[in-house]
Amino acid sequence: MVLNRPPALAADKVEALAHIVGKENVATDDYSRARYASGKTSEEILETRQGVIREVADVVVHPRDKHDVQKIVAYCHAERIPITVFAAGSSVNFGCRPYKGGVSLALGTHMNKLLAVNELDQTARVEPGMFGPAYEKALNEAPARFGTKHRYTCGHFPQPFEFSTVGGWVVTLGSGQASTYYGDAYDLVFAQEYVTPVGTFKTIEVPATATGPRVNDIMKGSEGAFGILVEVTMKIYRYMPEHRRYFSFMYPSWEAAVNASREILQGEFGRPAIFRISDPERPTAGSSSTACRRSSIRS
Ligand SMILES: Cc1cc2nc3c(=O)[nH]c(=O)nc-3n(C[C@H](O)[C@H](O)[C@H](O)COP(=O)(O)OP(=O)(O)OC[C@H]3O[C@@H](n4cnc5c(N)ncnc54)[C@H](O)[C@@H]3O)c2cc1C
Repeated sequence: MVLNRPPALAADKVEALAHIVGKENVATDDYSRARYASGKTSEEILETRQGVIREVADVVVHPRDKHDVQKIVAYCHAERIPITVFAAGSSVNFGCRPYKGGVSLALGTHMNKLLAVNELDQTARVEPGMFGPAYEKALNEAPARFGTKHRYTCGHFPQPFEFSTVGGWVVTLGSGQASTYYGDAYDLVFAQEYVTPVGTFKTIEVPATATGPRVNDIMKGSEGAFGILVEVTMKIYRYMPEHRRYFSFMYPSWEAAVNASREILQGEFGRPAIFRISDPERPTAGSSSTACRRSSIRS
């Protein structure tokens, strides 16, 4: 990979960033800069295959923890260096592109740990760069890892589960396969900690407040526009695979499947975790295509 675009950031500024995170956590080579320059829109994937990288950061920085992020943001703010956060890079709206150069902040490299499980509140405090499978595994193994009585699940399984991070889910308001029961990422967030150019703040760890607008809600889905998410406390649920069952029904028409699905969701029978209507063809008005509903009891 040859970019033919040397970093525009002066060497002393790269040096200052290396001083914060360590030399091994700063990269200015072409491959690293290209690797952290785009997400997964069709346009970006096709362009990358053709060797086209439209925007690229001057330097990729891998913070080790939230204190590194605080120092990086303070330094970049003082020096007017733009920062673009890169978690797992599965963005489908060009969010990972470093439009203005500067720093690509790679959160998935080190900031990927489950920090604590609070069994009383049934919450988990996690670093934003933790990938889905590692997070779910750690929760499933909570008795061995955290001495909890129960095993837990995160309840969030978006299509790119393996290729996205907990922080990415929160800042993009993700939705997953099991969201019918567990809710979207929006519903799973309990509290958040953000680093911003004017300081760090944490929302309070309570299940609800009686005043609004809630900062906790405003920050969800902000995709880095208001700050960098450095820690998040998520709701977690009992992991009980022995109670999970998958089954589906066949319906004679799309309309019948939609009507049955509406009744299931509105009928107060309890909600399946995975709930969807599939058909083999694209439904058109008056079509009598076969429809089926898949459903599972919550895990
Ligand atoms: C094939 C495919 C299928 C998909 N299916 C789904 C789906 O089922 N459900 C769904 O919700 N999404 C889906 N997506 C979209 C994408 O995977 C999600 O938006 C995912 O949550 C992004 O997480 P990430 O860790 O990859 O974040 P990234 O892509 O790295 O980042 C996403 C955006 O958030 C910013 N950001 C990331 N982390 C932070 C942070 N800690 N602080 C501040 N800003 C941050 C980035 O700068 C960027 O703007 C899909 C994408 C693909 C390619």
